[in-house]
Amino acid sequence: MSVDQGVFRPASVDEAVSVLARLPDARLISGGATLVAMINARLIEPAALVSLAGVDELHGITENPDGGWRIGAMTRHRDVAAERRFTGTLALVQQAASLIANATVRNMGTIGGAIAHADPGLDYPPALVAADAQIEIASGKGRRRLPASEFFVDWYATALQSAELVTAVHLRAASDGVGLYHKLARVSGDYATVSVALTMSSGVAGIATRAAMGACGPTPILLEEANALLSGSPGESELNRAGELLAAAADPVDDVRGSAEYRRLLIPRMLARAFTEARAAIGART
Ligand SMILES: Cc1cc2nc3c(=O)[nH]c(=O)nc-3n(C[C@H](O)[C@H](O)[C@H](O)COP(=O)(O)OP(=O)(O)OC[C@H]3O[C@@H](n4cnc5c(N)ncnc54)[C@H](O)[C@@H]3O)c2cc1C
Repeated sequence: MSVDQGVFRPASVDEAVSVLARLPDARLISGGATLVAMINARLIEPAALVSLAGVDELHGITENPDGGWRIGAMTRHRDVAAERRFTGTLALVQQAASLIANATVRNMGTIGGAIAHADPGLDYPPALVAADAQIEIASGKGRRRLPASEFFVDWYATALQSAELVTAVHLRAASDGVGLYHKLARVSGDYATVSVALTMSSGVAGIATRAAMGACGPTPILLEEANALLSGSPGESELNRAGELLAAAADPVDDVRGSAEYRRLLIPRMLARAFTEARAAIGART
């Protein structure tokens, strides 16, 4: 491993973990899109940086034999946005990546850095929760995996412990259905005011829907009760009730992107729009 002016350059995950264990005040740097801005604004002053750029296993997207996918933590947003193999219910992950900020940020930022930062306005978290993705985490004790719904725990807080890092995001094989990610932002390229991620597939018992709302609280909001209402043969009253439940579970902030009240109003409307679009797409295929 090389070290140059306070920047460690490990060649493996084990080397990165051992630096983090030895230097608790060191910070990982992936794309640097957020970290460098935080350092420049003097919000943080890391004792050292640990660059993940030279760790080969963290780069790229690979298909597993079972049809699932492994997205390495260092995979740039632009590469996920360009990934046309995420079809059916997984299309929402590609859509979320393509709506992140602008081309400059998509060229810099990585999926691992984004989810580790856990800004509640990010585009990946609701998409990964709706897709039932798993987050792979490395530490000195080895690897563990957590469902995305358990990875995001609070405002800018994740289940990562000290000296742990995100190594990959795992996606299940796509079902033959629809995956949608809708983002409402003040202007193109801004963080979401509210977002909705939704997967829908159809079977003998009717449709199966899994929806998560983003930017409406500290973590993405997914409610099993709402998903049950949106599955089977839901009508307008079930759709309305699911929207009410999600709005009641939200804990939005008042900020420059919108008031808490405005965000609560948007939740049922955005859910209904995504649901209706997904059902029309399913109908067109059945
Ligand atoms: C101007 C601007 C606009 C943006 N707009 C949007 C937007 O609309 N939607 C959106 O979703 N995002 C947006 N982002 C955030 C963007 O997605 C960043 O890519 C992301 O926040 C950080 O990714 P990064 O790879 O650059 O991480 P870095 O900046 O390198 O790191 C971010 C944090 O994560 C830690 N970290 C990095 N990698 C790992 C890892 N593998 N394991 C554990 N910890 C790690 C770092 O120590 C640091 O604390 C925006 C960012 C900027 C600068």
